[in-house]
Amino acid sequence: MQQTKTLPFTTSSQSLIASVLLMMTPACTVENPQQGQASEELATPSTFRTTTTNYTSYQSGDVPILISVPHGGSDEPASLTERTTSYSGLVTNRELYLQDIAIGVADRLENTHGITPYLVLGDVHRKYIDYNRDETAAIGGSANEAYETSAANTYYDEYHSRLDSYISTIQSSYTNGLLIDMHGTGSVPNKIVRGTRNGDAIWDLLRGHNVTSITASEEKAGHTAAMAQDDDLGTYWSSAGDESIEFDLGSTKTIGSVELAMTNGSSRTYDFEIEVWTGSSWTVAFDGNNTGGTSDFEIYEFSTPISGSKVRISCHGSDYSSSNYIKEIRIQEHGWDPILGPNSIFDELDDAGYTLEPGNTEYGVGVETTFIGGFTVEHHGSENGGLDAVQIEIGSNYRDTQSERDQLIIDIADAIDSYYDNY
Ligand SMILES: [Zn+2]
Repeated sequence: MQQTKTLPFTTSSQSLIASVLLMMTPACTVENPQQGQASEELATPSTFRTTTTNYTSYQSGDVPILISVPHGGSDEPASLTERTTSYSGLVTNRELYLQDIAIGVADRLENTHGITPYLVLGDVHRKYIDYNRDETAAIGGSANEAYETSAANTYYDEYHSRLDSYISTIQSSYTNGLLIDMHGTGSVPNKIVRGTRNGDAIWDLLRGHNVTSITASEEKAGHTAAMAQDDDLGTYWSSAGDESIEFDLGSTKTIGSVELAMTNGSSRTYDFEIEVWTGSSWTVAFDGNNTGGTSDFEIYEFSTPISGSKVRISCHGSDYSSSNYIKEIRIQEHGWDPILGPNSIFDELDDAGYTLEPGNTEYGVGVETTFIGGFTVEHHGSENGGLDAVQIEIGSNYRDTQSERDQLIIDIADAIDSYYDNY
């Protein structure tokens, strides 16, 4: 029998909590006041080539990794009007050294590790365009959250079209990819802050394997087996007594974890087993209970991944009743591991000595609170058909000096390379 463990963390779907938090916290950052609006960057040591069109600089890659920098630009096109129409979350400072850091990371990945990431940099200063805001979010007059007047539309669209184009290229060439949206923050100067919109921006990664068919030993009227994986936490499969539901993956897959969201899981403790069909028998991968602490996803991570073609949940009611209720299932190879697990980007940054927020053992509903992820990782993330996406906010104290930046570039590039090698 497989040894199993459950983690005391939960993962979020289209969570209202996340939406509320996003509204409460600016999706991006305020720099240290003393850094002000200084317009100089360090002398760029990099030889990394970029092409610039309409104030977006970009470079194609050869691996499914796309780095974006929306707030590092310093260009001030004469045709543009400064962003002055007020709204909650208006920030006009640029993030210092972010373009050089991103180019340095790309350069090191290419020259030291032999992989070239895709790169997109917004070159217009944030006081004219905020590329990490939604141009359809009107705030009065001709202004929207991204820019003041329509003269900026061409430049804004160039940036997002370039991202869309690279995402399409990556999706047509690879089974998965990662968008890393790089930012700087002065408000959390001594940390690197992760933002996945509490998992929503890495939807594909968490949703995991496609399920080709679902059957159940019993289903109550109106609560069919299919409702246990319809991307809708508002519907659920239900049955009474000792019953099971089976998910066919169509072919043999590597299964490392299963996530389940239970109806009223925040107040009921369900009793169930998770089993994997290995071709000749069912292997019990988990035998126990949910925590009773959340109605959102909880992860059941196998100590060793199992190769199998089907997953079965054998249910035995809850402490509330003999009935079974499953809102949603995700059957994963990796789950959160490429982001937080061994040799992942954040695990490597943790090993390199950076203070992470949240820590790389923390994930789930409401865990990301400071910068949960802004427009870029939402709009271009897998929640909305793009790539799995993560926002990285680099505290100002990690990039104040040239030597700090040099080390930061090495550490981020090596962390990305480790992710690429292992996932
Ligand atoms: Zn930013």
